[in-house]
Amino acid sequence: MVWEVLVRLEISNIINKHAYQPAIILGHSPSLDAIKDDLLKYKEAGYILMGVNQWFDLYPTVPNYWTMASTVDTPMNYMKVINTCKLDVLYADSVDLVDKEWLDTVCENDYLAFDQRHFKGKECSVCNTFGCSKYLNTRRLTLQEELMKYTKSNFHYGSGSTGCLHACAFAILMGCDPIYITGIKLDYRVGYANRLNPDVSFSPDVKETDFDELKDSVLIDFQTIKNSAANINRNIFSLADDCLPGIFERKDLDG
Ligand SMILES: [Zn+2]
Repeated sequence: MVWEVLVRLEISNIINKHAYQPAIILGHSPSLDAIKDDLLKYKEAGYILMGVNQWFDLYPTVPNYWTMASTVDTPMNYMKVINTCKLDVLYADSVDLVDKEWLDTVCENDYLAFDQRHFKGKECSVCNTFGCSKYLNTRRLTLQEELMKYTKSNFHYGSGSTGCLHACAFAILMGCDPIYITGIKLDYRVGYANRLNPDVSFSPDVKETDFDELKDSVLIDFQTIKNSAANINRNIFSLADDCLPGIFERKDLDG
């Protein structure tokens, strides 16, 4: 079957797509619980919901966008959810090397494939071992470089150790303002937000210590994103006391 509308989106297609609409970045840590029952209400009120990874195990409201930068959480693994939910996907083709010709035949929705590690169009340190140069395009900016250009900043965040960084970058590029963040603790010891089905194993390969070595770099990345957004007078807030305190000002949603 050939789908009538299938677009491989480029960054240029999404720039200012949601100008001055508020957005919510939805991580998976317990602070997500405070808002997830109300997500549909906020979506209907015009908030752009940015989901990541296994969002569908945590809340039933279909987000506006699904960001992935993983070899586990991939369009291929979740194609049934993507097509059932009619959900546009933003995924890193520098991490997930899925064949795009195949993707075109099975994906019924738009998708945007981005690069998150080949800065200045050059190979990275693991190209030889991981093969991540498969889709390297010397004329394509990384997502981080796109954000740097869009925000007229002098610095960009790193290759990104959590998908929420990229979701936040996309929200800025799409013109969203303000942007709210929740569900980011950077410590798997605290576990996850409550699951829709507690009997189903959630991220079984994740170890409690996985963020220990990554946390500092992720915090720097969020600070860089905050500074970039501030450069063009965009605002990012935290919805929870334990979600990136010291970087983002704490603020509740309206309504
Ligand atoms: Zn590479």
